[in-house]
Amino acid sequence: MKESVIKQQLDLLSHNTGIGFLYTNKGVKIQSNLYTDIPIINELKNNTAVINREFADANTNKVIKYQEFVNPLNKRCLYVFPVGISMGSKYVIETGVISEELFERHKPVICRTVLIIIEMFQVLERMYEVEFSSIAINRVEEKSIRIYNTVNLLKRARLTQPSFCACRVSILNDKEILNVYGSKALEGAKCELHRLLSLKAKRFKNPITTCNRVENDGVLLLLPYVKDVQSIVGETSEVLVNFTSDTYLITVKLGAVYANYPEVGDIERLSNYLSRGITYLAENSTEVLEFIDMKGKLGDKIINEFKLSEDLRHTVTESKDDILVMYQPKVDTNTGKVIGAEGLVRWQMKGRGLIPPNEFIPISERTGIIKELGKIVLDRVIEDSKRINRELEGLLDAPLRLGVNVSAVQLEDDSFVRYLEEKIKSGHCDPKLLDLEVTESVGMYDINHTIELLGRLSILGITISLDDFGTGYSSLTYMKNLPLNYLKIDKSFVDSIFEKTSFCKNIIDISKKLGLMTVAEGVETHEQWDTLKSFDCDILQGYLFSKPVPYKDLVEKVKDSYAYTL
Ligand code: C2E
Ligand code: CA
Ligand code: CA
Repeated sequence: MKESVIKQQLDLLSHNTGIGFLYTNKGVKIQSNLYTDIPIINELKNNTAVINREFADANTNKVIKYQEFVNPLNKRCLYVFPVGISMGSKYVIETGVISEELFERHKPVICRTVLIIIEMFQVLERMYEVEFSSIAINRVEEKSIRIYNTVNLLKRARLTQPSFCACRVSILNDKEILNVYGSKALEGAKCELHRLLSLKAKRFKNPITTCNRVENDGVLLLLPYVKDVQSIVGETSEVLVNFTSDTYLITVKLGAVYANYPEVGDIERLSNYLSRGITYLAENSTEVLEFIDMKGKLGDKIINEFKLSEDLRHTVTESKDDILVMYQPKVDTNTGKVIGAEGLVRWQMKGRGLIPPNEFIPISERTGIIKELGKIVLDRVIEDSKRINRELEGLLDAPLRLGVNVSAVQLEDDSFVRYLEEKIKSGHCDPKLLDLEVTESVGMYDINHTIELLGRLSILGITISLDDFGTGYSSLTYMKNLPLNYLKIDKSFVDSIFEKTSFCKNIIDISKKLGLMTVAEGVETHEQWDTLKSFDCDILQGYLFSKPVPYKDLVEKVKDSYAYTL
């Protein structure tokens, strides 16, 4: 960034004065428009007496010193302005070869511009002690970096030290840096992180203190005491937060996760905890610097989630039978007949019983396990939808549709939709017996892509319900463009149906205007049923009719509803 700003200023100056300018520091040369690099400049510098001059800006009271080289014989002259000193190297701006008269005429504007550049330079220098970009990046090119294995480093430390603090530091916004500034900038930032941490760690003259680059682009710091983590990483973050790379100023966000050995005695587990913590921070942090003590409250939460996700992953790959699908009937508001049911997943966990979806769906979404889990549920519901319609043939007025909940994550790419399309083409799925429940969050990735994906399924005869309506971000245009058939009013609206400010009727009216069928969720009382009926709500679902039940109970519920219809 620094360079591009300087270039801009110099170009402007060239434009206003008709003089070319050159800015040099050790590695970088920036020349403005009109500047031509001619040998006479060196000749002037080497063979002409230098006169030190000064310019005082009357407006700001700032003074700038500069050097004047004038050759009286050929009237050539050159002016050199100091800009700053960093890493022992001088940064100067010099003019192209010009006449004294030309310089005198434009002296105020030239001096003022250089003053501005100097100020800018000082601010940028203060923000960052040294010129990183060239140093850090050159170092990358000089030698390839050694990446150590965290577990090995921890095992080695354990051999010599009875206790130590292990801290993993990583750049949290690495993907963003890569996308916006490229791989060279990211590698520069990583090298600089390692270099700065190593420098700071050297302050501790303790044999345990080491700092190494480890797998997955992290740095592992081993320190004698936990208390040192905050200061070392904090100081590093202060410097690195404004990392200058080539022509950019990049904000580097750091995460540090730590735990003590032998408090966590199993080395594999210790290493695991550190990387889990970093993953958590990368997904959740907003600050430029975040710490997690893995033995603190947040650490506990992460570890529990981690264990749960490992168990779930195991269940999904090895013991699919522990994934159960229960069905909650959907009832015709006017007749009370069951016209369909929603499939709701449960996890049968050894020693803990049935785990409700709210405890594991969010984790499965964060870890991507939902993709596999979603397919298991989908397969089950597809099978059950064929089975129930076969079993109840002759009884039903119309085919029963079974619903499946689909997360936004499952619609992130088209693998879920392709999977379903193939099942339909091969005759394993009857699309007329299937309904997909999506929430308003499906638009969060790429709404046009979601519209296209759901459109492909809709055309084949699958219906789509907009679930939890009213709880998220709903936009009418968005709803008009999704290929929807049903709108499910969230339970919270049904709960407050008798309040003055109730929205239930309005939602049903909107739904009708959009040509959708309305389903009310969480209906628990006869009064709610009556009121929803008077509002012209088409379908009801809730404990009043049934809790979610296993497949065979669903069959009975359907039969009962046909036996005692209104
Ligand atoms: P949801 O899709 O809104 O499902 C309705 C939830 O409300 C179900 O909770 C259901 O048992 C509960 N419910 C229904 N009627 C009543 C009632 O009258 N009173 C009360 N208090 N509750 C009622 P459940 O089964 O715990 O599911 C919770 C959420 O988990 C679901 O909310 C859905 O978002 C998610 N979920 C369930 N199964 C799946 C699945 O297979 N895939 C995905 N992605 N999400 C699922
Ligand atoms: Ca649902
Ligand atoms: Ca719902």
